[in-house]
Amino acid sequence: PETRKGKPKWLRVKLPTGEKYRNLRKLVDKYDLHTICTSGSCPNMGECWGEGTATFMILGNVCTRSCGFCGVKTGRPETVEWDEPEKVARSIKIMGIKHAVVTSVDRDDLKDMGSIIWAETVKAIRRMNPTTTLETLIPDFQGIERHIDRIVEVAPEVVSHNMETVRRLTREVRIQAKYDRSLGVLDYLKKQGINRTKSGIMLGLGEKEEEVIQTLKDLRSVDCDVVTIGQYLQPSKTHLPVKEFITPDQFKRYEEVGLELGFRHVESSALVRSSYKAQKHIN
Ligand code: SF4
Ligand code: SF4
Repeated sequence: PETRKGKPKWLRVKLPTGEKYRNLRKLVDKYDLHTICTSGSCPNMGECWGEGTATFMILGNVCTRSCGFCGVKTGRPETVEWDEPEKVARSIKIMGIKHAVVTSVDRDDLKDMGSIIWAETVKAIRRMNPTTTLETLIPDFQGIERHIDRIVEVAPEVVSHNMETVRRLTREVRIQAKYDRSLGVLDYLKKQGINRTKSGIMLGLGEKEEEVIQTLKDLRSVDCDVVTIGQYLQPSKTHLPVKEFITPDQFKRYEEVGLELGFRHVESSALVRSSYKAQKHIN
């Protein structure tokens, strides 16, 4: 089932439509708001924005890490903007977002690794948008508990941290990260009383089925509640190549396995991104 571009037909992207989508799009352009949805041209914009969900990135758009799959620029990051929390909170208000996902680049260059801006952002969003629910998709903060505690203290409805890939491929896919450290972050969050923890992996990087299932088991072993599973797509020629396009049947199978293992929610299909259907995951 190949298309002209060499991608299977299930990866063909529908253009977003709908009145709500169009209105949001206008606001984003008018106020120069920065969402991951638009900067990454996410295929799910029509659906997510129609449901009042969007993803915002904080702490700049240059990352200190250089994961082989990621389209974010690597290098020396910008200085911290202390009014960023207010700006993000205002964007959410202007857009009328009901469920906001906040994520960030990794700031290994900062003493607090960005955790203070993280907490301030959650507080500002809550202040300006008291009915908006929140998911924070956080970095590993190098596993340092006092940084993670700042997130726990402001208690977002969902806290996620992505494993991104199976154990064997972690070095290749995200060189500065560690599989067990990421699991440890999820474990710590749960033990500190976070209601919903969540993680995500991408497929098509050369992982085997049993490795994927093992990763799902590892996530359940730290009581992770929600998992997202999607197809990896290469952001540019210099990124890791796609080794395989996973079939819809295989995604379905992982969904079944995930539910059997006891996840509350499993989103598993080619176009799933970690914030896809995110508003569902608070329950
Ligand atoms: Fe935005 Fe995430 Fe939805 Fe894509 S999946 S449109 S990035 S909220
Ligand atoms: Fe991209 Fe996150 Fe890796 Fe930075 S840490 S390169 S933002 S995936």
